[in-house]
Amino acid sequence: MRYLSTRGGMDPAGFADVLIDGLAPDGGLVIPEAIPVLDTDDLAALAVAPYPEVAGAVLTRFGTDGDPGGLDAGDLARVAAAAYGPDRFDHPDVVSLRPLGDGMVLCGLSHGPTLAFKDMAMQLLAGLFDSVLGARRDHMTVLGATSGDTGSSAEHAFAGSASVDVFMLSPLDRMTPFQTAQMYTIDHPNIHNLAVRGVFDQCQDLVKHVTSDQGFKVRHRIGAVNSINWGRIVAQVAYYLYSSLRVAGPGGEVSFAVPTGNFGNVYSGHVARRMGAPIRRLVVACNENDVLDEFFSTGRYRMRRPGDVVATSSPSMDIAKASNFERYVSDLTGGDTGVVADLFTSPDGFDLSSDPAFAAVAATGMVSGSSRHADRIATIREVHRRWDVVVDPHTADGITVARRFLEPGIPMICLETAQPAKFSATIVEALGEAPPVPERLARILDLPQRYQVIDPTPDAVRAAITAARPRRAGHRAR
Ligand SMILES: *Cc1c(COP(=O)(O)O)cnc(C)c1O
Repeated sequence: MRYLSTRGGMDPAGFADVLIDGLAPDGGLVIPEAIPVLDTDDLAALAVAPYPEVAGAVLTRFGTDGDPGGLDAGDLARVAAAAYGPDRFDHPDVVSLRPLGDGMVLCGLSHGPTLAFKDMAMQLLAGLFDSVLGARRDHMTVLGATSGDTGSSAEHAFAGSASVDVFMLSPLDRMTPFQTAQMYTIDHPNIHNLAVRGVFDQCQDLVKHVTSDQGFKVRHRIGAVNSINWGRIVAQVAYYLYSSLRVAGPGGEVSFAVPTGNFGNVYSGHVARRMGAPIRRLVVACNENDVLDEFFSTGRYRMRRPGDVVATSSPSMDIAKASNFERYVSDLTGGDTGVVADLFTSPDGFDLSSDPAFAAVAATGMVSGSSRHADRIATIREVHRRWDVVVDPHTADGITVARRFLEPGIPMICLETAQPAKFSATIVEALGEAPPVPERLARILDLPQRYQVIDPTPDAVRAAITAARPRRAGHRAR
């Protein structure tokens, strides 16, 4: 498979390159030249395959490119088998499917090390990076900023990697004790927690600042594993195929409800649907930050200013703009790179309400809705009362909106994007008691923590990265 930019300004590249480099050089997003379509036999085989095999099969469609030094199907199957092994995921099936009622099925995606669905993609991504960088005898420095969840997932996935060092900036004393412990108790020499005396926005600005220093970036091979990385999208396609094929039954269809922030998760569902997964609707569930719900209702995409983002009780969906949305709009325009470049370089957003591209939304099966704090609380209560299941606030947003789109005879698969233990305060508000904490994490708050406190300056970040360099030089020499 070859990859191009949504804006047309990139020479075709192979999977390994877009995996490592992430961004298209013209500011657009990397997309495959074509979406592979699975035939009836392929789908029948996947319907009975264990999860790691489904993931391996999806990877093979997108990840083999015949390049010398590229990955082959055997490499990809091995990476998938290791990424979803029993040492990483608590559930024997990796992904769980649990019928609720009213035609809804809860799809558990948060059985991984950090209890959030980000692990599904990050575990695979780390294995792919090690494979590619190992074969090239190369090393990379992943630099990121986190307010809690993504950073933790990346650190757990890359802990112990021979070819990647992770430097993660987090705001000192501003994460929950559980999030802090999840990150700072990791004890691997390639994981570097930098606790910044400042807030999350400063952490993000520092990453931008240090990465825009080209000399430093090249010298330290600095990259990112953020939500627009194509590898993360591909990894997520697998659970849409896996769960739709299992739940739909022969000749049947399902819909999905997806708690949405940066549009990465639901975009993966869109890719799975195009590949032939039996998906009728993809329900885009937003919280109070409803920029995407506004688009699907009106055709207008009005990005918010960062200061207008509301802090909510489903914080991982608090966004000003949806970074993966450009990939979907590219599809709506039939891959018109000129139009996409125009739309996504206009500073505040765009209006497609009277454009054929907006009319194309219907054929993609996407519908939307938003959920507010009171809805979230009511849904957590109702799901607990009726089916004795505790869901986290993000999953509750998905279920809230899913209810508006239930259709007889079409199961609605509600994606569970995190375990409730991560968002204890909201669960206490809804149910009057704290959610259960998985045993493996019960004592995490008592473990020793490892982190370095730094001032919110680019120099402090650069100094921390430079100081860790001897370890990497040693790795290369081996
Ligand atoms: C990241 C995240 C989301 C949003 O996913 P996107 O791919 O950004 O749309 C939803 N819920 C939880 C718990 C998350 O961590």
